[in-house]
Amino acid sequence: MIYINRDFKKALTEHSKDEFPNEACGLLAGKDNRVERIYRMKNTDKSATSFFMDPGEQFTVMKDIRNKGLSFIGVYHSHPETGAYPSAHDVKLAFYPEVSYVIVSLKDKENPGMRSFRIIEGEITEEEVKAL
Ligand SMILES: [Zn+2]
Repeated sequence: MIYINRDFKKALTEHSKDEFPNEACGLLAGKDNRVERIYRMKNTDKSATSFFMDPGEQFTVMKDIRNKGLSFIGVYHSHPETGAYPSAHDVKLAFYPEVSYVIVSLKDKENPGMRSFRIIEGEITEEEVKAL
């Protein structure tokens, strides 16, 4: 389960819309599965169907997360045209078994979707997104 309050949910959806038609991506930091900070990241793929984060930018953010006394708890990205379910490519690039993978879908732009998953050794398990 991951806790994402209403403001953060809105921020994730806004970032997804800002990057449209490409995928948006970023990192989630917090405590006890509760999102307390969102880091927008560059999608170096600049693609509508995939994302990749710059390792240097990621390193800087990881350091900032630690300095703030938070933990790295999730990776988010958007699916501009498809549903909020991990693609085969997402599964292949899911390097962190201990974090949540949040996907925002803009397939229905009036009513964006958001789902969260754990991806461990290629196996996808959906988890609940709670607003608090
Ligand atoms: Zn994806």
